Amino acid sequence: MTPSILPYGRQSIDDNDIAAVVEVLRSDWLTTGPAVRSFEEAFAAAVGARFAVACNSGTAGLHLACLSLGLGAGNSVVVPTNTFVATANAVRYVGAEVRFADVDPDTGLMRPEDLAAALKRPGPPAVAVFPVHFGGQAVDMNAVWSLASEHGLSVVEDACHALGTTYVSRGGDSIKVGSCHDAAMAVFSMHPVKTITMGEGGVVTTNDEALYKRLNRFRSHGITREPSEFLNNELALDENTEVNPWYYEAIDTGFNYRASDINCALGLSQLRKLDQFVTRRRFLVDLYDVLLRPLAPVVRPCRRVPGCDAGFHLYVALIDFDRLGMSRGTLMHTLRNAGIGTQVHYIPVHRQPVFGNMHLDLVGAEQYYRRCLSLPLYPSMTDDDVHAVVAALKSAVA
Ligand SMILES: *Cc1c(COP(=O)(O)O)cnc(C)c1O
Repeated sequence: MTPSILPYGRQSIDDNDIAAVVEVLRSDWLTTGPAVRSFEEAFAAAVGARFAVACNSGTAGLHLACLSLGLGAGNSVVVPTNTFVATANAVRYVGAEVRFADVDPDTGLMRPEDLAAALKRPGPPAVAVFPVHFGGQAVDMNAVWSLASEHGLSVVEDACHALGTTYVSRGGDSIKVGSCHDAAMAVFSMHPVKTITMGEGGVVTTNDEALYKRLNRFRSHGITREPSEFLNNELALDENTEVNPWYYEAIDTGFNYRASDINCALGLSQLRKLDQFVTRRRFLVDLYDVLLRPLAPVVRPCRRVPGCDAGFHLYVALIDFDRLGMSRGTLMHTLRNAGIGTQVHYIPVHRQPVFGNMHLDLVGAEQYYRRCLSLPLYPSMTDDDVHAVVAALKSAVA
């Protein structure tokens, strides 16, 4: 079904997805059941990680990552300013401070030199960096990993845009985002606008068993049923030093961040279409790139990252509004009247009032923000839809 307004992004749901959800509703388990495990195993296999932990949002996943690393007061974490506020909020949930990093004006991605500059600013000791694979293109993880190792930082990829993305390692291998080749953990979102959806949901991947156990525990109230982790033997054990059958222990202050079987069944059904979705997204991006070429230099695509095969989440056009002599707001209204939804990704997070409206000198991010406009991109868009978007853009800027 094509909506009357082309949104900048939307889910693609078919009868198999609906059947998968209905099947769970008829089953014995609505939550903490077999669909969760099946989804986690399939997800880990799809991205090439040892472990995957499903949770109820990407934001919850970011929070779980912070908790499992033990981040907290007295620490700071480097976050690129061109991201969704959730990346920075998660750092604050655990009492740590955010160090905002600049981004490349033509890709919206944090560069290694932006990380280095953020580390030089005064503030509490930096203990982690959260690179964001903005729009689906990968940050230079080889360089970020080297720098992070040098400075003793943990790396958590905010991969909410980048399910299906690959990049090239220093050794020339193709690396899947989510395989944690250059990170302790990677966090994905399954919000309806993202590459696949669970309605609401998220996944954290890792290859580290200790982190995996902590992620699991923090996801479910900080409770463990693993006898080797019990601290209170007086309560845990019976007169024959057997574990009491009712026994569990709360050993961390955890949360209820579980994903239900309903959400995971949808996630698993969607995951089966990941390659198909990503192929379609790449095709649509290539089509936009070609059709927009005559509008250069006023309208340009974001620069493509060499060696990266992106599972594009967004199609961001960079528009020189000064040269155009039209404001972004006016263009958005004009396109809206032509049935085309657009969006701005993102307002630099360091400019948000809750982050103190900081006047950091992040010139790349400012230059990026002034020009960016996300055009509709989702797998069920037709080629004609892309032609219609470009035609409306052409007539608006004519
Ligand atoms: C969507 C998104 C999140 C948050 O994910 P939710 O599932 O909506 O909580 C975090 N970071 C980025 C970059 C995102 O795009």
